[in-house]
Amino acid sequence: MNKFVFGPVPSRRLGQSLGIDLTPVKTCTLDCRYCQLSATTHQTLERQMFCDPAEVIEELRLTLDEIDPPDWLTFSGAGEPTLHAGLGRLLAEVKAMGVAPSCVITNSTLLGREDVRSELLLSDRILPTLTTVNEATFTRIHRPPVDLILNEVLDGLRKFCGMYKGIVDLEIFVCPGLNDTPIEIAGLQGYIANLSNLASIYLNTAVRPPVDGEIRPASVDELESFKEHLRVFVPISTAFDHSPLPRKGVRKPPPAHEAIQALLLRHPCSIGQMERVLNLSGDLILETLKNLKAQNLVEVGHDGLWRRQLNNSEHA
Ligand code: SF4
Repeated sequence: MNKFVFGPVPSRRLGQSLGIDLTPVKTCTLDCRYCQLSATTHQTLERQMFCDPAEVIEELRLTLDEIDPPDWLTFSGAGEPTLHAGLGRLLAEVKAMGVAPSCVITNSTLLGREDVRSELLLSDRILPTLTTVNEATFTRIHRPPVDLILNEVLDGLRKFCGMYKGIVDLEIFVCPGLNDTPIEIAGLQGYIANLSNLASIYLNTAVRPPVDGEIRPASVDELESFKEHLRVFVPISTAFDHSPLPRKGVRKPPPAHEAIQALLLRHPCSIGQMERVLNLSGDLILETLKNLKAQNLVEVGHDGLWRRQLNNSEHA
């Protein structure tokens, strides 16, 4: 079973996206209340060499040998990818491979660092997240470490956008009652107006159950209202815009138990969602889940979603 590379995952924003996960579960700079993976067990701002880049590249090459070229090679997963101290080297190696463009999904928190900004310049696309320009709201939503200063993050993202030649698709995660007031939206609007090189904005919300049960998803109307009030001159889409999922990649399929575990590690899912994403029959999925549950590898929550049971020493 792969340790770092997962998918390809069909994504409305990224087409067929082959994921590369560089951090152990669940290592992140933040502990967002809306996180749909799990609570952060290792919160840090310190960049580390969590795994050997050569091992990641080797696994990537082996995976790419078995599949059609994906649309994007996407650094994302069960944590914050810019925490990996070898990200720049990996982006350079991916570029040299020339198989597919690279994309980094980031929570933006390390963009205040010059080294992170210059490494990300090697990518072809980034999807940074921003929820607020207000420090108190930022703290309420993301539970950051005390030494993370929002203004430095905002300044870093602005500087990065000014230098970057790739595509920037900003994600705003909407938490009703926290960052959707007129003052919050006006603050975001003012900040976004000064971001150069922005290609689009995606309004996301907690469509899967978040770690904090008090965070509820925005409704279709709430996201539409947010979109209407944001009034910026870039295309805005929302989590409820339903374009068809992209074509499936051609790949020798991994065994069902591997595919299910890899998916559940990053995305808690219902059986129906697993059927759609993995293209497996409901019977096979049920049978496999039963076996995995007996080995304490997966569990099902009260919300009906299946998750990987986490073992903190494990690398995603
Ligand atoms: S939502 Fe993203 S940034 Fe927030 S804790 Fe989860 S993985 Fe980290």
